[in-house]
Amino acid sequence: MAEWYWKWLALGGGAVAWLLGSEGTVAKSVDELPDSLPGYDWVPSYWQQQLPVFATLPDMIVLHSGDVGANVAEYLANPLAEEGAVNAVLCSDGKYRRKVGAHFAWSLTRNRFVQQFSLRQEVPGAGSVPVLGKRVNGHAIQIELSGPYDQNPRSELERNLFQDWVSTLLRYVRSIHYWTRHSDIDAGKHDPGPGFSSDWLNTTGLTWVSRG
Ligand SMILES: [Zn+2]
Repeated sequence: MAEWYWKWLALGGGAVAWLLGSEGTVAKSVDELPDSLPGYDWVPSYWQQQLPVFATLPDMIVLHSGDVGANVAEYLANPLAEEGAVNAVLCSDGKYRRKVGAHFAWSLTRNRFVQQFSLRQEVPGAGSVPVLGKRVNGHAIQIELSGPYDQNPRSELERNLFQDWVSTLLRYVRSIHYWTRHSDIDAGKHDPGPGFSSDWLNTTGLTWVSRG
């Protein structure tokens, strides 16, 4: 199916789809990045008000997927957890939440990707592993594909919406040149799993990188 069709489908149609064809501005600093990617609904993370902005322009994408559940964005919007769970933090309202998140995530209820953090914000998606000599979260835009991570194949809809997301992101965040999977940089992780193929990125010109 033609790219424009999926763009139209993702946005609910209309002139907005064509506006995405216009060039984004070239940010020379984090302050000049847009907060939002045009055409994406927000399902904000609980952590959105509390996390810092990037110290430097993001230069890579990290791919994740929902662990065992399919509703990734819905969980990450308010990641309640039991006391003692991995990454669980006691919050000011007395509840425990896992400090996890990604800039974009698959919404099961909307059947598309939604935005959960500003493009200027550093998110706790891939821990503190080094990539390109720097702590990865400090210079990466992160996305959660649908769960579970071991689905294979993924839907054609998800693949097309992912490719639409990448091409839109690269127009608005021109500093991005690299990509990696969470499983490429953390031996304990399996996401985004076998249903994701590097073919999904083969028109982007991005370079794959590993841990280090
Ligand atoms: Zn992950």
